[in-house]
Amino acid sequence: MTTNTAALSNIGALDAAHHLHPFTHMDKLNEGGTRIIQRGEGSLIFDNQGKKYLDAFAGLWCVNVGYGRKSIADAVYQQMNELPYYNTFFSSTTTPTTLLAQKVTAHAGAKMNHVFFTNSGSEATDTWFRMARVYWAAKGMPSKKQVIARRNGYHGSTVAGASLGGMKYMHEHGALPIEGIHHIGQPYWYVEGGDLTPAEFGLKVAQELEAKIEELGEDNVAAFVAEPIQGAGGVIVPPESYWPEIAKICKARNILLVADEVICGFGRTGSWFGHQHFGFEPDLAPIAKGLSSGYLPIGGVLVSDHVADVIRSVEFAHGYTYSGHPVCAAAAIENIRIIEEEKLVERVRDDVGPYLAKALASLLDHDMVGDVQSVGLMAGIQMAADKKTRQRFAKPDEVGTWVRNHCWSNGLIMRATGDRMLASPPLIITHEEIDFLVGTLRNALDAAW
Ligand code: PLP
Repeated sequence: MTTNTAALSNIGALDAAHHLHPFTHMDKLNEGGTRIIQRGEGSLIFDNQGKKYLDAFAGLWCVNVGYGRKSIADAVYQQMNELPYYNTFFSSTTTPTTLLAQKVTAHAGAKMNHVFFTNSGSEATDTWFRMARVYWAAKGMPSKKQVIARRNGYHGSTVAGASLGGMKYMHEHGALPIEGIHHIGQPYWYVEGGDLTPAEFGLKVAQELEAKIEELGEDNVAAFVAEPIQGAGGVIVPPESYWPEIAKICKARNILLVADEVICGFGRTGSWFGHQHFGFEPDLAPIAKGLSSGYLPIGGVLVSDHVADVIRSVEFAHGYTYSGHPVCAAAAIENIRIIEEEKLVERVRDDVGPYLAKALASLLDHDMVGDVQSVGLMAGIQMAADKKTRQRFAKPDEVGTWVRNHCWSNGLIMRATGDRMLASPPLIITHEEIDFLVGTLRNALDAAW
């Protein structure tokens, strides 16, 4: 690769001068300097000083097959030479796009045989949001437009995505949410469950959906959306009582159920999709991230047959120049082939998922650890000021940031959401790497306490 070496030695300063980062306070970033990540191999990444880190966050919940997969690079190179681009608008397609549609739907449920491609999870959110409204209008129920989502959920950064997300600080940027979007509670028992048991609390927050539908009128509600396990909100695993009740309400009230699989999909939970782990069937399911393991940007919406039948009867006036981009599709096909061939979903379910759960449970003897939740390779470690009373720290963000920075300094990348430490490593992580993860986190907690 031809790179200007003078620019390389100066990349931090160039970055500070020219690059506005997502979700970053730029003035604060520039005080500490930018981290420059140079290369990756397996579950490891290396910065431009040669420092090695275990990436227990798989980039941004996405590098499911790990770094350095030459076969994906080869598939991309080949497709790039053969046909770098053609659109899928009107009546065209490309071979990889269609083969990917077949491959990805083969892993969805028996009644989910269609996919609409996008470039990201946020675009997938906008896509199902419009599709749900078009669906009801085409069925002669145009008043069914309102959408119910959850507080502290995350569905992307587009206007619809940030509106559907339940992050207050995101709503404050851009005067959101847009009209027609409503939020109900989240199944975060540790902090919001009070004296209820997790099962009671799971039912209670699920029933908030029923109450909201009642308030808005069933004939005005198009859909309910939630992540099977809330990711960016803190890896909030719902109590077992939650999803069956939600699925029951959506069915009884004639509301589309949308499972946001952008994080939970492609093996992260030890099933192909998070809804399969919890045993419910959504009508629509946005996907991205693990679809290509982040090697190239691609997303989509899985569409169940009964919705697709209606959408096929109209010309859905929606799409992106790069919907189903052939090179991204080629990367995704090879990525899914790796997941299948190396049995990574089964590996998460039967091997590394249980191993991580056991290793994390060993932290429960720490004074600072109030709870540990994990499903497959998605984990949230709840820190607490007083674990007997589940009392939180006065400044949860500061505690989380401190522990996260300690981990970073010691070669471990985790994320902190408030006072919850989050892990979501590549599906190929080894037992030794899990031991390093838990040991390094324990050291950080020891240093903090
Ligand atoms: N939905 C969920 C559940 C996500 O976690 C994310 C991103 O983290 C998105 C949607 C948005 O995806 P993207 O960042 O690819 O637009």
